[in-house]
Formats: sequence, C-alpha cells, structure tokens
Amino acid sequence: MKNLNKILQIIQKHKSFILSTHVNPDPDALCSELALAAYLRSINKKVRIINDEELTQRFQFLPGAKLIKCVSSIKIESYDVLIVVDCGDLERIGKVKDIIDNQKIIINIDHHITNDYFGDINLVEPKASSTAEILFELLVKGGCKFTRSIAQNLYAGIMTDTGCFRYNNTTSKTHKIVSELCVYPFSPSDLYKRFYESVPLSDLKEFTKVVSRFEDYFQKKYVVVELSKKTESKFSDNFDLRDAIFKYLRSIEEAEVFVILTENKKSLTRVNFRSSGRVNVGRLAQVFNGGGHHNASGGVIYKNISDAKRMVESEVRKII
Ligand code: 5GP
Ligand code: MN
Repeated sequence: MKNLNKILQIIQKHKSFILSTHVNPDPDALCSELALAAYLRSINKKVRIINDEELTQRFQFLPGAKLIKCVSSIKIESYDVLIVVDCGDLERIGKVKDIIDNQKIIINIDHHITNDYFGDINLVEPKASSTAEILFELLVKGGCKFTRSIAQNLYAGIMTDTGCFRYNNTTSKTHKIVSELCVYPFSPSDLYKRFYESVPLSDLKEFTKVVSRFEDYFQKKYVVVELSKKTESKFSDNFDLRDAIFKYLRSIEEAEVFVILTENKKSLTRVNFRSSGRVNVGRLAQVFNGGGHHNASGGVIYKNISDAKRMVESEVRKII
C-alpha cells in the first residue's frame, strides 16, 4: 500500500495526535479510531479522539469508547498530527474542522471511492472492505502488539462495513485478516448480537409500520422511502432505522437502487443510497453534494422532501 511507510515514519517522529472521522459515524469509523488510538497509546503517543458529536449510546460498549470526545465539550490543546479515518472529504468532519491548525500535518486514511485526497498524506484504498481493513495492515507493519480490544475493534469495523461478509467488498484478503483477528479472545457472535440483535421491542414495532410504506418505480428497480421528522422521532437512539430499512429492502429481487429521504430542516433533505451492484451510487451521491462507495452512499439536497424526491427520481431515471 502506497504511503504506509510514510505514515509510520510520521507517527514515529511526532508525539501528539488527534484522531477524527465523519459526522454521524458508523462502526467502521468509530472502531478504526479506537484501534488506531490503542496502537498509538501502546507506543507512548499522546492521543485524543475528537468527533463532531457525542458517541451515541448504542456504541458505548466498544472497547475504549470513553476516549471519544465531542469537539464542543472539550478544551483543545495543541497537537502535532491530525489523522482522519473513514472520511471522504474534510467537510465531513463537521465542527472538528474549526480546530484544525493549518501548520500541522493531516493524514487521510480511507476507503471511499469518492475520497478527494484532502490529506498531506493519503492512504486511500477504495478496494478495501473497510477502513479497519487498511488499519490492520498499517498496525501490522507498525509492529503493533495486538490486544483483544484492538482485534475486536478491527473485526467490528470489517464485519459491519461488509454487511457481515455478505457485500461484494468482501475479498479473500478480508477473510484472511479476519481469520488473524479471530485468534484473539473476543466473541464474534456476541459482537453480532450487540450490533444486530439488541433492538428495543418498541422500535421494531414502529419499524414494521415504516417499512411497509416504501414505493417502487421503474419496474421495481428503484425503491424509495420517505422519513419525516415526526416518523424519525418515534425511534430510540438504540435503533439504526436507515440501516434496518435498507437491510429489509435489499431483499427485493428486482430492485437495483434503494433510496431513503430524510427530512432534516424545511429546506434540507438527507439522502442515503444503496445499490444491489450494477449502479454506482457513489457517483450518484456526488450529484447531491455527497459521496461514498459504489454500493452505499449519501448526500444532502437543499430542498424540501417532496422536491428532493423528484430530483432523485429524475437522476435515477437517467441511469436505471
Ligand atoms: P450511510 O448511508 O450509511 O450514512 O452512508 C453510506 C456511505 O456513504 C458511508 O460510507 C458514508 O461515509 C458515505 N456517505 C454518507 N453520506 C455522505 C455524504 O454526505 N458525503 C460523503 N462524501 N459521503 C457520504
Ligand atoms: Mn467505512
């Protein structure tokens, strides 16, 4: 991997690091931060993990989770190197952008196909299943003494970003790495349970109502769900509503593009895309101020939800 050694040299040379990731971080983003932080601490570096927001409750079981701080709740001290993981562009780190010291080095470690190489040093591998997979190689090369926590966090990042090894970003290399991680004493099945089988009953009941409200167009190739603010507010913090909807919809045989439109403000709609494989929704999201991967992406539309829906439909029509 290009720049692996360069990054290790920079780590060796400097003392103090800030780690960050994208807003609304997923498990790969968080677990990558935690694994990297544990490694840096093990070689006596000063590390802070600073994110746009507080860690959501459902991820607080992750080893080392207490290290994750929200940018608006801490005093910022000086640092040497900022390492951003799992993030396609610097806008996506949200308010953490305000604390960047332009004199300091930025390292960008990511696997998004739409990454804009914002770092002074970029380790961007779109073929990697997850950022955790890239970090595994970096840590091995850096002589990391793997622990149960590091192994579990890397495993969790890979497991979740591959949809539990089902998506086509899962390669023989992914399995090889995972087999090395599984040597450490953590339980993959417990982890699976924490991520996917810890849904509050009330959320599941609400979910069955929402998921029945999807619409399909273009001979069932395009499936879309609208989420109003009111609908979203019915769910607890412990439920990943969009993830659950996508998981359900992607089982439709003919469907190729899946979209969830979420009302944010009156004139701001979030849009999340999934593809069954043929259509590159990473590129599609770029039309809507966003980005991501071939099969999973997101963006924002500065319109109300009905106008946003029309705009997305018209773009999908062009490619489906
Ligand atoms: P999700 O739908 O799970 O929020 O995001 C799917 C993928 O697309 C993730 O890898 C995420 O980082 C990326 N993504 C989601 N929203 C945006 C966005 O607004 N901009 C960019 N560049 N990537 C996004
Ligand atoms: Mn990722």
